[in-house]
Amino acid sequence: MSKEVITCLYCQSPNEIDNEQNDIGNCENCGMPLTQHAPEGRLSRLKRFLPFFWAIVIFCLVMIFYLPR
Ligand SMILES: [Zn+2]
Repeated sequence: MSKEVITCLYCQSPNEIDNEQNDIGNCENCGMPLTQHAPEGRLSRLKRFLPFFWAIVIFCLVMIFYLPR
């Protein structure tokens, strides 16, 4: 039986889990579900969002100056 330690993503406490189980279960400390893969960071989501954000900003600026009043 192989054991693995997974650090909880929510409270950073180490959880020893059984590798042969399909369901790795919840954190012993806070009860949140444990995942072996870290979720997508907030930074990379922000990086993907930024070009879209600037496109909207530029579009708004163009509209402010272009639209007749
Ligand atoms: Zn936890």
